[in-house]
Amino acid sequence: MTDHIIIGGGVIGLTLAYSLACQNESVLVLDRGTCGQGTSRAAAGMLATDIELREELHTLAARSRRLYPLLARRLTRETGIDCGYREQPFLLKQNEQ
Ligand SMILES: Cc1cc2nc3c(=O)[nH]c(=O)nc-3n(C[C@H](O)[C@H](O)[C@H](O)COP(=O)(O)OP(=O)(O)OC[C@H]3O[C@@H](n4cnc5c(N)ncnc54)[C@H](O)[C@@H]3O)c2cc1C
Repeated sequence: MTDHIIIGGGVIGLTLAYSLACQNESVLVLDRGTCGQGTSRAAAGMLATDIELREELHTLAARSRRLYPLLARRLTRETGIDCGYREQPFLLKQNEQ
């Protein structure tokens, strides 16, 4: 008997599964292909919450963005695999009209 079944093993499904497992919930992840080989594999890795999102999603995304460094450190500690997360400043050029 499984507490949760998650369809899709991309970054969203796997992070959700990890979070549930950390709360001692049993989880089954089903993927039609190979976990981590969907859109998540194509992502450039930018966490651009301030420039890419609609207003109504911004609060949620900003909170998620603040939690991400903790998750990255925790995963590195638990797995020994460095996901490559780095804090880097960037410049944003406004479009000239
Ligand atoms: C070129 C590119 C660059 C990007 N760059 C960035 C970036 O820099 N920063 C950023 O934040 N986002 C970026 N994104 C967006 C980001 O990749 C996605 O928002 C994110 O990976 C989505 O994760 P996901 O887990 O929802 O989907 P996916 O990673 O696609 O995972 C979904 C999984 O579900 C499985 N699946 C689908 N249908 C079924 C089914 N019926 N039954 C079973 N399994 C199924 C698939 O096989 C797949 O493994 C980029 C996207 C692209 C395409």
